[in-house]
Amino acid sequence: MYRIGHGFDAHQLVEGRPFILGGVHIPYARGPLGHADGDVLAHAISDAILGACALGDLGTHFPESNERWKDADSFVFIAACAQMTRDVGYEVGNVDATVVLQNPKVAPYIPRMRERIAHTLGLSLDVVSVKAKTSEGMGYTGDGSGIAAYAVAMMRRR
Ligand SMILES: [Zn+2]
Repeated sequence: MYRIGHGFDAHQLVEGRPFILGGVHIPYARGPLGHADGDVLAHAISDAILGACALGDLGTHFPESNERWKDADSFVFIAACAQMTRDVGYEVGNVDATVVLQNPKVAPYIPRMRERIAHTLGLSLDVVSVKAKTSEGMGYTGDGSGIAAYAVAMMRRR
């Protein structure tokens, strides 16, 4: 009846890239380097949705080697992963995610991230949770060289 999935993602933060998180562009001097637009939150949520249905991971379905995904809006991945799980009889019940970074401060943008995620998944806002934490200066998220995100998705049979 119910299944749960977990996702994790991390990217380097580098100069010359737009800072996109949770589908929201946030003004900042650096941005995530990596797959598509480097949206760690979108990638972690996508992997959580896939994982709940044991459908592999984002990199398998949307390989970085495919030029088609270069600088793509990662929300196309969330939508596609949700469709894959619908195809095997499941729908997203709720999503909870945590992003870990030191800067920029993303709290003011979280409502818009939740709106975008909810809209993309056809969910109401009250079942989409996004939280932001620092790692208190420790590690790659603490020194600003990277950003990470964790997500869980609960799925139920349609
Ligand atoms: Zn990623």
